[in-house]
Amino acid sequence: ALYQIPDVSKPRFVRVNTLKLDVESAFHELGKQNMVQKDDMVPDLLILPPGSDLHNHPLVRNGSVFMQGKASSMVAVALGPEPGWEVLDACSAPGNKTVHLAALMNGKGKIIACELDNERVKRLEDTVRLSGAANIEVLHGDFLNLNPMDPSYSKVRAILLDPSCSGSGTTAERLDHLLPSYAAGDATDVAGTERLNKLAAFQKKALEHALSFPAVEKVVYSTCSIHQIENEDVIKSVLPLAASHGFQLATPFPQWPRRGLPVFEGSEHLLRTHPVEDKEGFFIALFVRKSIARSLEQ
Ligand code: SAM
Repeated sequence: ALYQIPDVSKPRFVRVNTLKLDVESAFHELGKQNMVQKDDMVPDLLILPPGSDLHNHPLVRNGSVFMQGKASSMVAVALGPEPGWEVLDACSAPGNKTVHLAALMNGKGKIIACELDNERVKRLEDTVRLSGAANIEVLHGDFLNLNPMDPSYSKVRAILLDPSCSGSGTTAERLDHLLPSYAAGDATDVAGTERLNKLAAFQKKALEHALSFPAVEKVVYSTCSIHQIENEDVIKSVLPLAASHGFQLATPFPQWPRRGLPVFEGSEHLLRTHPVEDKEGFFIALFVRKSIARSLEQ
């Protein structure tokens, strides 16, 4: 193998659920048994040494902190919902980003958390319960079937879209053979290519759908994939439609050095994390609509 990524090499991240506990108290409590640091980019994120086992820690069990990686925790922060907003989480189970949204909104406003899969809806409900958030409405159904013109969604101002993806950025055993050309999307087998094409087609459809909600000002799209076909290619393919609705790409975490692969003009707005350097491969794109009024006039 070219690269060994033993699990123990990864720092452990925990996100403080500020609906239940403030960061200082969590820092103090976890610091009794571990070396703890605060992350310099994601507020509420704490870093513990590799190998720290927190699964049974009382703060994890009671939902005061969630074990959530750094890249995953960047997504809701990139969206930046404000307290009081209505927000839609399009593909939400098991709900880590949903409850992060709730914390960022101080529990004020409303989050509609959509999930298609029967079993995963239960996990979503468990996460919501554990978080203590009272403003999350779980919607069991297909995001693609939600009608953007339905008055129920007329106040939705932000959408988080974290659709099903290949998971190639977090699946250690797949990285060995993908790393040399890590983002090329060059699945070597036909079945792999077919699967990626299917996923990319769904991701594109879901992103176009998200961009069609009339009052939405921001859409964040994320994957834990390293493949260009699920990332830059999806974004590039929706740009004309996004522009017709008045959306532009914005730059999440401008201080972050790793950006999108340079495959179209504007890809420097996109954010990538590297499967080895950052321990997991993630992708984030942020669309912002400057003026809703103008786009409705068109
Ligand atoms: N955002 C989640 C989190 O941070 O915990 C992870 C989401 S996971 C990558 C994608 C989810 O989308 C899966 O649970 C999958 O069942 C769900 N999904 C797939 N297609 C969907 C659809 N058409 N409508 C709603 N949910 C869908």
